[in-house]
Amino acid sequence: MTNNNSRRSFITTTAIAAALAPLATFGQGYEKAIDRTSKMSSPANLKITKVKCGYIRGSLFVKIYTNQDIWGCGEGVDAVAGTYHLVKFFGAVLEGKSPLNVHRLFEDIRKAGFFRGAQSGMYIAVLSAIETALWDLAGKALELPVYQLLGGKFRDKVRVYCDTALYQRNLPTTDDFAAAALSAKNMGFNAIKFDLDQANDPNKYDQYNWTASPAELQRMYDQLAAARQAVGPTIDICADMHGRYDAVTAHAIAKRLEPLNLMWLEEPVPAENVEVYKLIADSTTTPICVGENQYLAYGFRRMLEIGAVDIVMPDLQKCGGLGEGQRIANLANLYYTPFAPHMVASFLGAMASAHVCAAVPNFLILEWQSYFHTDPMFRDIVSYDGEWVNSGYITVSEKPGIGVEMNEAGMKKYALPGMPFFE
Ligand code: MG
Repeated sequence: MTNNNSRRSFITTTAIAAALAPLATFGQGYEKAIDRTSKMSSPANLKITKVKCGYIRGSLFVKIYTNQDIWGCGEGVDAVAGTYHLVKFFGAVLEGKSPLNVHRLFEDIRKAGFFRGAQSGMYIAVLSAIETALWDLAGKALELPVYQLLGGKFRDKVRVYCDTALYQRNLPTTDDFAAAALSAKNMGFNAIKFDLDQANDPNKYDQYNWTASPAELQRMYDQLAAARQAVGPTIDICADMHGRYDAVTAHAIAKRLEPLNLMWLEEPVPAENVEVYKLIADSTTTPICVGENQYLAYGFRRMLEIGAVDIVMPDLQKCGGLGEGQRIANLANLYYTPFAPHMVASFLGAMASAHVCAAVPNFLILEWQSYFHTDPMFRDIVSYDGEWVNSGYITVSEKPGIGVEMNEAGMKKYALPGMPFFE
């Protein structure tokens, strides 16, 4: 049931029909008038009453309730395990306040945690979910899609790349890479991402030292060359190393992959030391992409300032939310750097991210997961009546708010055991 329908249930058809039975014609006119009138809210009196949450797979889902029978939904990812009491704490900060002052509430929560870890990690990942839910709520209250609240859109459709999720297989072969690339291309995607890091590669000499051996480097090149061969020169290919290697390997692989014309090489080394990224980026023509473990715009400032990265990829369900995502994009734009958000959330998070991607000029591409097409859980946990992705693009929702609702009944099946579920 949508918020709109729920609101309408305040004045039920039955009640109207009973009250106005003698005046059937007038009654119909009254109902039509109700339909024409905003059912969403009386914004000036809108107040947050409660914040509730549930945990599914790697995601935290929050729902912010109000005194006007409308609500907002948001999602946080990765750094959200064990955060139930943070959600409750943030809820206490929000209760009784108007949800329409999104940036102010974001600052209220951030500043309330200045000595409690509000610079990064779980605190900011939970704040991302809350902040997103506030945008959803504000959009519903004002009857505008979130991109409109963010200043309007540069594009109607958001290009996505297909993450092949081959890491879920043990030691994928060059044939697996070629087949996954072709499969994504045949589904209409014009950009594909692969993972190159393999902790159990038999050619690896040491579990703790992450210098790739010559055979590992050859394996990585061969896998991506097979993908390139399969799809031809005009499909974008990116490769992720999940920050698992050292600088020696980063220099070697970035150089070696140059003939394959990647869209980017993602996090060959961890991203804490951005001066190392500067050396890597300066040493190769392969574009270097960083950012899924950075928090807030502060996390991107230094790397942009010194020219350490070619593309930034904040995760908007983790880095601080939609407003912070827009700030990061705008900051990157000052350095003529494209914005390509990481995205491992549900379709709720995907569409929330899409609103930001629509609302910034330097958007390049958004992540999309191949398992959205195969794992029924992702369909079960949300409600959305449009097509999710078409030929590699998400059409940005025109509904008030994000445009995708949580399906709590569907979610319940997957709720993390032992954790409160929207209680
Ligand atoms: Mg990555």
